Amino acid sequence: MSASTADPRIVVLAGDGIGPEIVAAARRLLDVLGSFDYDEQLIGGISIDELGTPLSDDALAACRSADAVLLGAVGGPKWDTTDPDAPRPEQGLLGLRKGLGLYANLRPVKPFGALLDASPLRRERIEGTDLLVVRELTGGIYFGRKERRPEAAIDECVYTSAEVERIAATAFAAARRRSGGRGGRVTSVDKANVLETSRLWREVVGAVASRFDDVELDHLLVDNAAMQLVSDPARFDVIVTENMFGDILSDEAAMITGSLGMLPSASLGEGGPGVFEPVHGSAPDIAGEGTANPLATLLSVAMMLRDGLDRGPEADRVEAAVDAALAGGLRTADLFTGADGERRVGTAEMTDAVIAAL
Ligand code: NAD
Repeated sequence: MSASTADPRIVVLAGDGIGPEIVAAARRLLDVLGSFDYDEQLIGGISIDELGTPLSDDALAACRSADAVLLGAVGGPKWDTTDPDAPRPEQGLLGLRKGLGLYANLRPVKPFGALLDASPLRRERIEGTDLLVVRELTGGIYFGRKERRPEAAIDECVYTSAEVERIAATAFAAARRRSGGRGGRVTSVDKANVLETSRLWREVVGAVASRFDDVELDHLLVDNAAMQLVSDPARFDVIVTENMFGDILSDEAAMITGSLGMLPSASLGEGGPGVFEPVHGSAPDIAGEGTANPLATLLSVAMMLRDGLDRGPEADRVEAAVDAALAGGLRTADLFTGADGERRVGTAEMTDAVIAAL
C-alpha cells in the first residue's frame, strides 16, 4: 500500500547485525495491518561508517517529528574499541533516549504457553506470570557525576521528586490499563533501608498512589525482589524501579521466558514519540544467516501499536498471532529443543506464520 499524508509516520532505525533482518520482518507485518509512512534512518555502527557519528542530527530530528520509532539493534565487533574518543554504536541509543526525553522503559514478561518448558525455571513456577517492568531510564547513578581519583572512584546517584513522580505515574497508569480499569498492583522496588534516594522514591511513589486509589501498592527491597522474581514471578503485576535496579531486574525477569529472542520493549517520554525495540542486541554471531528470531521485534510492533499509535485491538491480534505460530510448533533456532511437534524455521518462515495467523 502506498502511504498517504494521514498515515502514521514511523522512523525505522534498522541498525547493525540482525537489525535489518528483524526490522524487515516487522515491516512485512505492519504492511499487512495497514498503511504507514516509513522513514528509514541510520543508527549505530552503520551510521558511524556512513556519517561518522552513531546518530546524526537529521536522524534525531526525523525521530522527533515521527509518530513512533521502530529500532532493530546496534553494535558489533567491527566497532568495538578501547579508544575513549572513538564513536561507539550504543552512543546512538543514549542520544536517542536523551534527545526524545524517554524516561520510561517498559518491558512486559509473559511466557507463551508453548514455551513454558524452554525457561530455565520449572513450568509450575512460571505458569501464570504476566508482569511488566517499568524502569526509570534517564536518572540515577548512570547519569550522576563521575569522578576518578588515584585510589578511588565516585558515581553519584541523584533523583529529584519530579523524576520519581512521572515514572510512578507511568507505572500506575499501566497497572490500571492492564487490569482493564479493575485495579491492578504496583510493586515499587528500592533500597530504602540504606539509600536516601530510595527513601525519597518511596515517599513520592506513595504520594502518587493516592491519585490511583483503585491500584494497590506494595514496596519491596531490591534484594527481596530479585529473589521473588525467580521464586514466585506470578505474584507480580507492575514493577516500578529506578534505573540501575531496573537494568538488572529486567534482565533477570527476561530469563523467565527462556529466550532473549522473545522480549519486546517500549521507551516512552512526555507526549513525544516512543521507541519500540527488541530487548536483545545485534547478535553478530548469526547476522546474515536468516535464522534470527523475529518475535521480539514483532511483539515490539504490538507495543508500538498499543502504546505509540493507540491501536490496541491490532496489538492484541499480533500477540495472538505470535501465540498461534508457536502453538503450531514453529521454532527459530534459539527456541528449538527438538521436542516432538517442533519444527525449526528461519526468520522469514516464522514471520510468514505470524502473518498467516493474523
Ligand atoms: P545479543 O543480544 O546480541 O546476543 C546474545 C546471544 O543471543 C547471541 O548468541 C545471539 O545470537 C542470541 N540472540 C540475540 N537475539 C537473538 C534473536 N533475535 N534470535 C536468535 N538469537 C538471538 O547480545 P551480545 O552478544 O552481548 O551483544 C552483541 C552486540 O549487540 C554488541 O555489540 C552489543 O553492544 C550490542 N547490543 C545492542 C543492544 C541494542 O541495540 N539495544 C542491546 C544489547 C547488546
